Amino acid sequence: MSDLDLLDSAPVADESKILEGLNDSQKEAVSSPLCNALIIAGAGTGKTRVLVSRIVYLISHYQVKARNILAVTFTNKAAKEMRERIGMYLNANDTHHLWANTFHSTCLRLLRAYATQAGLTPGFLILDTDGQNSLVKRIMLDLKMDIKEIKPSEFASRISSLKEKGMRADDFQKRVNYIKYTNKKKSGTIEKLALVYSAYERICNQENSVDFAEILLRTVELLRSNSAIREIQNERFKEILVDEFQDTNSIQYELLTLLAGKNSHVMVVGDDDQSIYSWRGADYTNMKKFLNTFPDVHQYLLSLNYRSTQNILDMANTLIEKNFERVMLKNLKGNNGTGSLVSIFKCANNRVEELSVAKEIQSLKDQGVKLSDIAVLYRNNYLSFGFEQALTKAKIPYVIYGGQKFFERAEIQSALAYLKILVNKKDDTALLRIINLPARKIGPKVVESLRNISNEHSCSIIEAIEYLHEYVSSSDAAKELKTLYSKVSAFYNLYLELLSKKETMRLHEFVHHMLTLTGLYAFYSEKDAKEGKSEEDNSRYKNLGVLVSNVKEFEASVDQGEVSVDSENSAKVEDQLTLYLTNITLVSGGEINENGSAETMPFDCVNLMTIHASKGLEFKYVFICGFESEILPSSRKSSSGDNSLEEERRLAYVGITRAKEQLVISYANARTMFGKNEQKGASSFINDIVESYENSKNKPYKIVTKI
Ligand code: ATP
Ligand code: MG
Repeated sequence: MSDLDLLDSAPVADESKILEGLNDSQKEAVSSPLCNALIIAGAGTGKTRVLVSRIVYLISHYQVKARNILAVTFTNKAAKEMRERIGMYLNANDTHHLWANTFHSTCLRLLRAYATQAGLTPGFLILDTDGQNSLVKRIMLDLKMDIKEIKPSEFASRISSLKEKGMRADDFQKRVNYIKYTNKKKSGTIEKLALVYSAYERICNQENSVDFAEILLRTVELLRSNSAIREIQNERFKEILVDEFQDTNSIQYELLTLLAGKNSHVMVVGDDDQSIYSWRGADYTNMKKFLNTFPDVHQYLLSLNYRSTQNILDMANTLIEKNFERVMLKNLKGNNGTGSLVSIFKCANNRVEELSVAKEIQSLKDQGVKLSDIAVLYRNNYLSFGFEQALTKAKIPYVIYGGQKFFERAEIQSALAYLKILVNKKDDTALLRIINLPARKIGPKVVESLRNISNEHSCSIIEAIEYLHEYVSSSDAAKELKTLYSKVSAFYNLYLELLSKKETMRLHEFVHHMLTLTGLYAFYSEKDAKEGKSEEDNSRYKNLGVLVSNVKEFEASVDQGEVSVDSENSAKVEDQLTLYLTNITLVSGGEINENGSAETMPFDCVNLMTIHASKGLEFKYVFICGFESEILPSSRKSSSGDNSLEEERRLAYVGITRAKEQLVISYANARTMFGKNEQKGASSFINDIVESYENSKNKPYKIVTKI
């Protein structure tokens, strides 16, 4: 018996306690035999709860070792909650060995463990959306493409979609050639895309960085092609559980089939009515596919909703009834009584809407309601601003999930770029960001010369400088190279000094030191001063300080074993800085752009987020704002064509089913958007619901006019 086995065999929870409080269908699912299983059930019926209980049951009843279980969640927040919930039943060792992660984190752990086999150099970093956009921009400019005609961000997201479909640059080029050959027509944009994609792939490989889509694709390719590694995973992951299965895309589906071995079992839970990511390739028909691909799938149904009052559920049921594309018809029934009526706020304009919502929240606060029990949801991030202003004015604290991306701020990105080059000298994207920031007279000509050397030697820019450094010490060095080196020598010395200091300090002390030494503190506080920003004023200088605190918190969580360094795999244990950089890129919302940083706030505050980001969560009081024509359903045509209206309806359904006790749906008859006054009025979804109850005496809602 190995040490790991000894750890895993520590006592676990009393079995009867695990099933306690579950209803019969839930119990049946939790205590099902070791088999493949599919649970399709409506919102709030306890799918996630069943999944968590199942994990505990697997360990306590079937004596499955925690390290043989893989649980996949949709967000980092959900993974964290899952570990916490499991931690209530199991001892710390079990929780520690269990893999409960998002698809991206799971794949990243595998890539870290098998970096070399996956064609990466250990210590590779993740290219976030911002980095991806700036790399694509650089490539397009190099290729003399017009970035006004085609936005770099558009190409960047098309590259991600191609990767999500498993298509590499080479395959795409072949396809473009074929289209050109067969159609004999001009295929301008896709030809450009193929060129950019191919350069992008090459540079990412050179720079040893992977973007979010790459994390999944590369893992799938690794498992497809390397049977030895695949068999180790098949052996390890005996029980795989997936939450929110309706939102898996084809590459994630394939990943599951590769991870699960002949003797493994996969349990997936989902709700086709809550499938809201088809624009990113998610496909709820994977639920049907699962029944066909996996052997002997046991199916379980959960029908009782534990979350919401019946009035809220009636609104949800009436809305979703209009969808035709449903895998299973469900009618949510709850056990929390009828509850108060859902309020539909019919507001004269968006200002009135914002103030009315803030006023309502104030009155809840006055009644002693905890602010963290309140959520304000909206279809698009741009809608949050008005509510932020109204809440700020009313002195009601709030936190925005996803919208306010701390790690995307320029000053933070600059600081991170310095940190990135210290762990990955191949990261030219990071280097180019800061080589002349703060200004140190390294102009475009110098950069171009450095890039020429790096191209010539197929190395990164830092490596080119290293090469220059060695070269100029020889007596017969060419004069122009000596001059070139003299322009970058100060920067190179700074780089070397940082590299050596990194080894001698605690990480947060080092980051603080780096900010001083590089001149970033001084540079940004000068910038603040020029713009008249005081330190309290959300200044850049203050944000850099917040970054240092964030690193400190991270260190504490590593010390407490919350962020695990995967020592079980043969991989070299990552250094803390790499781990930190990886962690923030994942947590700050890369894998799901709208699911941004989910740090728990140190004080009580209202939650603001998009409906997408609210999936799987619940709040006692929910406000869904901007429930308007052209906003929800969105006027943006999706690539999936006709189904987009059904997807928008599902989105509204997800929003409504987040509410436990009280739901307010609000819309404005007039809205100022992007400086223009527009008259949108109620969403067709509201009209549909109202119409359904036209002759009914028992309406689940009341309309409240706000002027
Ligand atoms: P969603 O579709 O939104 O992801 P879900 O089906 O995953 O929802 P859960 O989040 O697991 O549902 O459960 C909804 C709420 O109901 C939670 O607060 C959960 O604790 C509670 N709940 C679930 N089952 C029971 C039960 N048997 N007894 C009491 N409360 C329950
Ligand atoms: Mg759930």
